[in-house]
Amino acid sequence: MAKLWLRLKGDFQLSIITLVGLVALLGVTPYAIFRLIEGSWLVGIVDSLLVLCTLVAIAYAWRTGNTIRPGQFLATIYSIGAVLVSIKLGVNGLFWFYNLILFNFFVVPPRQSLVATLSALAVLCLYGLLNPGEVFESYYQMSSFLVTCLMASLFAFVFAYRGRRQREQLNTLATIDPLTGAGNRRTMEQELVIAMSARQRYAQAYGLLVLDLDNFKQINDRHGHKAGDQVLVDFVRIVKAVCRKSDRLFRLGGEEFVLLLPGIDAKGLFKAAEHLRARIAAELSSPGGGVTVSIGGALLTDQASWEVWLQQADENLYRAKREGRNRVCLPLEVQTQTIQG
Ligand code: GH3
Ligand code: MG
Ligand code: MG
Repeated sequence: MAKLWLRLKGDFQLSIITLVGLVALLGVTPYAIFRLIEGSWLVGIVDSLLVLCTLVAIAYAWRTGNTIRPGQFLATIYSIGAVLVSIKLGVNGLFWFYNLILFNFFVVPPRQSLVATLSALAVLCLYGLLNPGEVFESYYQMSSFLVTCLMASLFAFVFAYRGRRQREQLNTLATIDPLTGAGNRRTMEQELVIAMSARQRYAQAYGLLVLDLDNFKQINDRHGHKAGDQVLVDFVRIVKAVCRKSDRLFRLGGEEFVLLLPGIDAKGLFKAAEHLRARIAAELSSPGGGVTVSIGGALLTDQASWEVWLQQADENLYRAKREGRNRVCLPLEVQTQTIQG
Protein backbone atom coordinates (compact mmCIF):
# COMPACT_ATOMS: atom_id res chain seq x y z
CA MET A 1 0.00 0.00 0.00
CA ALA A 2 2.82 2.36 0.93
CA LYS A 3 4.43 1.51 -2.43
CA LEU A 4 1.26 2.43 -4.36
CA TRP A 5 1.02 5.70 -2.48
CA LEU A 6 4.66 6.49 -3.24
CA ARG A 7 4.08 5.87 -6.96
CA LEU A 8 1.03 8.12 -6.93
CA LYS A 9 2.98 10.86 -5.18
CA GLY A 10 5.95 10.56 -7.50
CA ASP A 11 4.10 10.45 -10.83
CA PHE A 12 1.81 13.43 -11.34
CA GLN A 13 0.27 12.23 -14.61
CA LEU A 14 -0.43 8.75 -13.21
CA SER A 15 -2.18 10.26 -10.19
CA ILE A 16 -4.24 12.52 -12.48
CA ILE A 17 -5.27 9.64 -14.76
CA THR A 18 -6.20 7.57 -11.70
CA LEU A 19 -8.09 10.39 -10.02
CA VAL A 20 -10.12 11.61 -13.02
CA GLY A 21 -10.63 8.00 -14.10
CA LEU A 22 -12.09 7.08 -10.70
CA VAL A 23 -14.22 10.25 -10.60
CA ALA A 24 -15.49 9.51 -14.11
CA LEU A 25 -16.28 5.95 -13.01
CA LEU A 26 -18.23 7.21 -9.98
CA GLY A 27 -20.05 9.74 -12.15
CA VAL A 28 -20.87 7.50 -15.10
CA THR A 29 -21.51 4.07 -13.51
CA PRO A 30 -24.86 4.98 -11.84
CA TYR A 31 -26.08 6.42 -15.17
CA ALA A 32 -24.98 3.31 -17.04
CA ILE A 33 -26.94 1.10 -14.63
CA PHE A 34 -29.95 3.43 -14.65
CA ARG A 35 -30.08 3.61 -18.48
CA LEU A 36 -29.76 -0.17 -18.84
CA ILE A 37 -32.57 -0.78 -16.30
CA GLU A 38 -34.65 1.86 -18.05
CA GLY A 39 -34.11 0.08 -21.37
CA SER A 40 -32.30 3.02 -22.99
CA TRP A 41 -29.89 0.69 -24.75
CA LEU A 42 -27.68 3.03 -26.79
CA VAL A 43 -26.89 5.38 -23.89
CA GLY A 44 -26.64 2.44 -21.47
CA ILE A 45 -24.14 0.63 -23.68
CA VAL A 46 -22.12 3.80 -24.39
CA ASP A 47 -21.93 4.53 -20.64
CA SER A 48 -20.95 0.93 -19.85
CA LEU A 49 -18.24 1.01 -22.51
CA LEU A 50 -16.91 4.24 -21.02
CA VAL A 51 -16.72 2.57 -17.61
CA LEU A 52 -14.97 -0.48 -19.04
CA CYS A 53 -12.50 1.54 -21.12
CA THR A 54 -11.68 3.75 -18.13
CA LEU A 55 -10.82 0.68 -16.05
CA VAL A 56 -8.63 -0.68 -18.86
CA ALA A 57 -6.85 2.69 -19.29
CA ILE A 58 -6.10 3.01 -15.56
CA ALA A 59 -4.86 -0.58 -15.40
CA TYR A 60 -2.65 -0.01 -18.48
CA ALA A 61 -1.15 3.17 -16.98
CA TRP A 62 -0.31 1.38 -13.71
CA ARG A 63 1.07 -1.68 -15.39
CA THR A 64 3.29 0.00 -18.00
CA GLY A 65 4.00 3.38 -16.39
CA ASN A 66 2.98 4.91 -19.75
CA THR A 67 0.38 7.62 -19.07
CA ILE A 68 0.38 9.25 -22.52
CA ARG A 69 -1.46 6.54 -24.44
CA PRO A 70 -4.17 5.87 -21.80
CA GLY A 71 -4.69 9.66 -21.58
CA GLN A 72 -5.20 9.95 -25.33
CA PHE A 73 -7.41 6.89 -25.31
CA LEU A 74 -9.61 8.30 -22.53
CA ALA A 75 -9.87 11.73 -24.20
CA THR A 76 -10.94 10.06 -27.45
CA ILE A 77 -13.54 7.69 -26.03
CA TYR A 78 -15.04 10.30 -23.69
CA SER A 79 -15.29 12.81 -26.57
CA ILE A 80 -17.04 10.23 -28.74
CA GLY A 81 -19.21 9.18 -25.78
CA ALA A 82 -20.28 12.78 -25.07
CA VAL A 83 -21.29 13.28 -28.71
CA LEU A 84 -23.31 10.03 -28.83
CA VAL A 85 -25.04 10.69 -25.52
CA SER A 86 -25.89 14.28 -26.57
CA ILE A 87 -27.29 13.11 -29.89
CA LYS A 88 -29.46 10.60 -28.09
CA LEU A 89 -30.53 12.67 -25.07
CA GLY A 90 -30.57 16.19 -26.52
CA VAL A 91 -30.29 19.04 -23.99
CA ASN A 92 -29.97 16.62 -21.05
CA GLY A 93 -26.82 15.18 -22.63
CA LEU A 94 -25.27 18.57 -23.36
CA PHE A 95 -24.43 19.22 -19.69
CA TRP A 96 -21.80 16.47 -19.93
CA PHE A 97 -19.81 18.55 -22.39
CA TYR A 98 -18.67 20.94 -19.66
CA ASN A 99 -17.23 17.98 -17.78
CA LEU A 100 -15.62 16.70 -20.95
CA ILE A 101 -13.81 20.01 -21.47
CA LEU A 102 -12.16 19.81 -18.03
CA PHE A 103 -11.61 16.06 -18.24
CA ASN A 104 -9.68 16.31 -21.53
CA PHE A 105 -7.40 19.02 -20.15
CA PHE A 106 -6.53 16.76 -17.25
CA VAL A 107 -5.66 13.65 -19.22
CA VAL A 108 -3.79 14.98 -22.31
CA PRO A 109 -1.54 18.00 -23.07
CA PRO A 110 -3.38 21.32 -23.70
CA ARG A 111 -3.17 21.31 -27.51
CA GLN A 112 -4.36 17.71 -27.89
CA SER A 113 -7.15 18.41 -25.45
CA LEU A 114 -8.28 21.42 -27.46
CA VAL A 115 -8.31 19.36 -30.65
CA ALA A 116 -10.38 16.58 -28.99
CA THR A 117 -12.93 19.01 -27.52
CA LEU A 118 -13.25 21.16 -30.67
CA SER A 119 -13.70 18.07 -32.85
CA ALA A 120 -16.46 16.75 -30.56
CA LEU A 121 -18.18 20.16 -30.59
CA ALA A 122 -17.91 20.44 -34.39
CA VAL A 123 -19.42 16.98 -34.93
CA LEU A 124 -22.26 17.64 -32.50
CA CYS A 125 -23.13 21.08 -33.93
CA LEU A 126 -22.97 19.77 -37.49
CA TYR A 127 -25.35 16.99 -36.55
CA GLY A 128 -27.57 19.57 -34.81
CA LEU A 129 -27.60 21.76 -37.93
CA LEU A 130 -28.50 18.86 -40.22
CA ASN A 131 -31.21 17.57 -37.86
CA PRO A 132 -33.00 20.65 -36.52
CA GLY A 133 -34.90 20.13 -33.27
CA GLU A 134 -33.18 16.86 -32.44
CA VAL A 135 -30.22 17.85 -30.29
CA PHE A 136 -30.86 21.58 -29.79
CA GLU A 137 -34.30 23.12 -29.33
CA SER A 138 -33.33 26.19 -31.37
CA TYR A 139 -30.41 27.79 -33.22
CA TYR A 140 -30.23 30.29 -30.39
CA GLN A 141 -29.72 27.42 -27.93
CA MET A 142 -27.09 25.88 -30.16
CA SER A 143 -25.11 29.11 -30.49
CA SER A 144 -25.29 29.74 -26.72
CA PHE A 145 -24.05 26.21 -26.11
CA LEU A 146 -21.25 26.63 -28.60
CA VAL A 147 -20.11 30.03 -27.26
CA THR A 148 -20.14 28.90 -23.60
CA CYS A 149 -18.23 25.72 -24.49
CA LEU A 150 -15.63 27.67 -26.47
CA MET A 151 -15.17 30.13 -23.61
CA ALA A 152 -14.82 27.30 -21.08
CA SER A 153 -12.29 25.61 -23.41
CA LEU A 154 -10.28 28.81 -23.72
CA PHE A 155 -10.14 29.32 -19.95
CA ALA A 156 -9.21 25.68 -19.41
CA PHE A 157 -6.55 25.89 -22.14
CA VAL A 158 -4.87 28.96 -20.60
CA PHE A 159 -5.02 27.38 -17.15
CA ALA A 160 -3.67 24.01 -18.31
CA TYR A 161 -0.95 25.59 -20.45
CA ARG A 162 0.31 27.74 -17.60
CA GLY A 163 0.18 24.84 -15.18
CA ARG A 164 2.15 22.63 -17.54
CA ARG A 165 4.81 25.31 -18.16
CA GLN A 166 5.22 25.89 -14.43
CA ARG A 167 5.51 22.18 -13.78
CA GLU A 168 8.20 21.89 -16.45
CA GLN A 169 10.10 24.86 -14.99
CA LEU A 170 9.86 23.41 -11.49
CA ASN A 171 11.08 20.07 -12.79
CA THR A 172 14.09 21.76 -14.44
CA LEU A 173 14.87 23.65 -11.26
CA ALA A 174 14.65 20.47 -9.22
CA THR A 175 16.79 18.31 -11.49
CA ILE A 176 19.34 20.49 -13.33
CA ASP A 177 22.35 22.38 -12.01
CA PRO A 178 21.61 25.98 -13.06
CA LEU A 179 25.23 27.00 -13.79
CA THR A 180 26.33 24.14 -16.03
CA GLY A 181 23.12 22.44 -17.16
CA ALA A 182 24.40 19.05 -15.92
CA GLY A 183 22.03 16.95 -13.80
CA ASN A 184 22.17 17.78 -10.10
CA ARG A 185 22.96 15.52 -7.18
CA ARG A 186 19.32 14.59 -6.66
CA THR A 187 18.96 13.40 -10.25
CA MET A 188 22.23 11.49 -9.93
CA GLU A 189 20.94 9.58 -6.89
CA GLN A 190 17.75 8.64 -8.75
CA GLU A 191 19.67 7.48 -11.83
CA LEU A 192 22.13 5.45 -9.77
CA VAL A 193 19.23 3.70 -8.05
CA ILE A 194 17.73 2.92 -11.48
CA ALA A 195 21.11 1.61 -12.67
CA MET A 196 21.38 -0.67 -9.63
CA SER A 197 17.99 -2.24 -10.32
CA ALA A 198 18.64 -2.49 -14.09
CA ARG A 199 21.78 -4.48 -13.32
CA GLN A 200 19.89 -6.78 -10.96
CA ARG A 201 16.99 -7.33 -13.35
CA TYR A 202 18.56 -7.32 -16.79
CA ALA A 203 22.28 -7.73 -15.98
CA GLN A 204 22.80 -4.33 -17.61
CA ALA A 205 26.46 -3.19 -17.36
CA TYR A 206 27.38 0.25 -16.01
CA GLY A 207 30.50 2.25 -15.37
CA LEU A 208 30.87 5.29 -13.14
CA LEU A 209 33.47 8.04 -13.35
CA VAL A 210 34.07 10.77 -10.78
CA LEU A 211 35.81 13.78 -12.34
CA ASP A 212 37.45 16.52 -10.29
CA LEU A 213 39.15 19.54 -11.80
CA ASP A 214 42.78 19.97 -10.74
CA ASN A 215 43.85 22.98 -8.67
CA PHE A 216 40.57 24.68 -9.35
CA LYS A 217 40.80 26.82 -6.23
CA GLN A 218 43.76 28.62 -7.75
CA ILE A 219 41.68 29.73 -10.72
CA ASN A 220 39.15 31.30 -8.38
CA ASP A 221 41.85 32.86 -6.22
CA ARG A 222 43.84 34.32 -9.11
CA HIS A 223 41.19 35.23 -11.65
CA GLY A 224 37.98 35.50 -9.68
CA HIS A 225 34.89 33.39 -9.16
CA LYS A 226 33.45 34.36 -12.54
CA ALA A 227 36.43 32.92 -14.41
CA GLY A 228 36.03 29.75 -12.30
CA ASP A 229 32.36 29.54 -13.27
CA GLN A 230 33.25 29.86 -16.96
CA VAL A 231 35.73 26.98 -16.64
CA LEU A 232 32.96 24.81 -15.12
CA VAL A 233 30.60 25.68 -17.99
CA ASP A 234 33.30 24.94 -20.59
CA PHE A 235 34.19 21.68 -18.84
CA VAL A 236 30.59 20.41 -19.08
CA ARG A 237 30.37 21.47 -22.74
CA ILE A 238 33.52 19.49 -23.60
CA VAL A 239 32.48 16.39 -21.60
CA LYS A 240 29.04 16.37 -23.24
CA ALA A 241 30.63 16.69 -26.68
CA VAL A 242 33.04 13.83 -25.99
CA CYS A 243 30.81 11.28 -24.23
CA ARG A 244 28.12 9.07 -25.75
CA LYS A 245 24.49 10.18 -25.98
CA SER A 246 23.41 7.56 -23.46
CA ASP A 247 25.99 8.73 -20.87
CA ARG A 248 24.64 10.97 -18.13
CA LEU A 249 26.61 13.79 -16.50
CA PHE A 250 25.84 15.15 -13.03
CA ARG A 251 27.39 17.85 -10.90
CA LEU A 252 28.10 16.35 -7.52
CA GLY A 253 29.06 19.73 -6.06
CA GLY A 254 31.75 22.39 -6.53
CA GLU A 255 34.11 21.27 -9.29
CA GLU A 256 33.33 17.59 -8.92
CA PHE A 257 31.22 15.73 -11.50
CA VAL A 258 29.92 12.21 -12.00
CA LEU A 259 29.51 10.48 -15.36
CA LEU A 260 27.30 7.39 -15.59
CA LEU A 261 28.09 5.18 -18.59
CA PRO A 262 25.63 2.40 -19.45
CA GLY A 263 26.61 -0.69 -21.45
CA ILE A 264 30.36 -0.51 -20.87
CA ASP A 265 33.05 -3.00 -19.76
CA ALA A 266 36.37 -2.49 -17.97
CA LYS A 267 38.28 -1.81 -21.16
CA GLY A 268 35.65 0.58 -22.47
CA LEU A 269 35.50 2.46 -19.19
CA PHE A 270 39.25 2.98 -19.14
CA LYS A 271 39.28 4.10 -22.77
CA ALA A 272 36.39 6.52 -22.24
CA ALA A 273 38.00 7.99 -19.12
CA GLU A 274 41.40 8.35 -20.76
CA HIS A 275 39.83 9.96 -23.83
CA LEU A 276 37.96 12.44 -21.63
CA ARG A 277 41.08 13.27 -19.64
CA ALA A 278 43.10 13.90 -22.79
CA ARG A 279 40.43 16.07 -24.42
CA ILE A 280 40.02 18.19 -21.28
CA ALA A 281 43.79 18.64 -21.02
CA ALA A 282 43.89 19.71 -24.67
CA GLU A 283 40.81 21.93 -24.79
CA LEU A 284 39.94 23.32 -21.35
CA SER A 285 41.58 26.56 -20.32
CA SER A 286 41.29 29.39 -17.81
CA PRO A 287 42.78 32.92 -18.08
CA GLY A 288 45.89 31.45 -16.41
CA GLY A 289 46.36 28.61 -18.92
CA GLY A 290 45.32 24.99 -19.38
CA VAL A 291 43.13 23.14 -16.88
CA THR A 292 43.30 19.40 -16.24
CA VAL A 293 41.05 16.84 -14.60
CA SER A 294 41.62 13.79 -12.42
CA ILE A 295 39.29 10.86 -12.89
CA GLY A 296 38.43 7.89 -10.67
CA GLY A 297 36.14 5.11 -11.83
CA ALA A 298 34.38 1.90 -10.84
CA LEU A 299 32.31 -0.69 -12.66
CA LEU A 300 28.98 -1.76 -11.24
CA THR A 301 29.51 -5.31 -9.98
CA ASP A 302 27.86 -6.58 -6.82
CA GLN A 303 28.07 -3.50 -4.62
CA ALA A 304 25.48 -3.45 -1.87
CA SER A 305 24.32 0.09 -2.69
CA TRP A 306 25.01 2.98 -5.06
CA GLU A 307 26.74 4.77 -2.20
CA VAL A 308 29.35 2.00 -2.05
CA TRP A 309 29.80 2.14 -5.83
CA LEU A 310 30.27 5.90 -5.79
CA GLN A 311 32.66 5.63 -2.87
CA GLN A 312 34.84 3.16 -4.81
CA ALA A 313 35.05 5.58 -7.73
CA ASP A 314 35.78 8.41 -5.28
CA GLU A 315 38.61 6.47 -3.63
CA ASN A 316 40.16 5.97 -7.05
CA LEU A 317 39.82 9.67 -7.75
CA TYR A 318 41.83 10.41 -4.64
CA ARG A 319 44.43 7.90 -5.75
CA ALA A 320 44.66 9.82 -9.05
CA LYS A 321 45.14 13.05 -7.09
CA ARG A 322 47.83 11.49 -4.90
CA GLU A 323 49.65 10.10 -7.91
CA GLY A 324 50.04 13.58 -9.36
CA ARG A 325 46.68 14.65 -10.92
CA ASN A 326 45.70 14.76 -14.63
CA ARG A 327 45.28 10.99 -14.67
CA VAL A 328 42.74 8.16 -14.61
CA CYS A 329 42.53 5.56 -11.85
CA LEU A 330 40.20 2.57 -11.96
CA PRO A 331 40.07 -0.29 -9.41
CA LEU A 332 43.43 -2.05 -9.55
CA GLU A 333 42.00 -5.35 -10.84
CA VAL A 334 40.17 -3.51 -13.66
CA GLN A 335 43.25 -1.51 -14.59
CA THR A 336 45.42 -4.62 -14.68
CA GLN A 337 42.80 -6.41 -16.80
CA THR A 338 42.74 -3.42 -19.15
CA ILE A 339 46.49 -3.26 -19.54
CA GLN A 340 46.65 -7.03 -20.17
CA GLY A 341 43.77 -6.80 -22.66
P1 GH3 B 1 42.43 19.45 -6.25
O1 GH3 B 1 43.32 19.42 -7.44
O2 GH3 B 1 43.01 18.68 -5.11
O3 GH3 B 1 41.06 19.01 -6.58
O4 GH3 B 1 42.39 20.97 -5.78
P2 GH3 B 1 41.22 21.99 -5.98
O5 GH3 B 1 41.75 23.35 -5.76
O6 GH3 B 1 40.56 21.75 -7.29
O7 GH3 B 1 40.18 21.51 -4.88
P3 GH3 B 1 39.54 22.22 -3.65
O8 GH3 B 1 38.51 21.26 -3.15
O9 GH3 B 1 40.59 22.67 -2.67
O10 GH3 B 1 38.84 23.50 -4.23
C1 GH3 B 1 37.63 23.49 -4.89
C2 GH3 B 1 37.21 24.90 -5.10
O11 GH3 B 1 36.05 24.98 -5.92
C3 GH3 B 1 36.85 25.61 -3.82
C4 GH3 B 1 35.63 26.42 -4.16
O12 GH3 B 1 35.82 27.77 -3.90
C5 GH3 B 1 35.44 26.22 -5.63
N1 GH3 B 1 34.05 26.17 -6.06
C6 GH3 B 1 33.07 25.36 -5.61
N2 GH3 B 1 31.92 25.61 -6.26
C7 GH3 B 1 32.16 26.61 -7.14
C8 GH3 B 1 31.36 27.31 -8.10
O13 GH3 B 1 30.17 27.06 -8.29
N3 GH3 B 1 31.96 28.28 -8.84
C9 GH3 B 1 33.27 28.59 -8.66
N4 GH3 B 1 33.81 29.54 -9.42
N5 GH3 B 1 34.05 27.94 -7.76
C10 GH3 B 1 33.51 26.96 -7.01
MG1 MG C 1 39.55 19.89 -7.56
MG1 MG D 1 36.86 18.83 -5.34
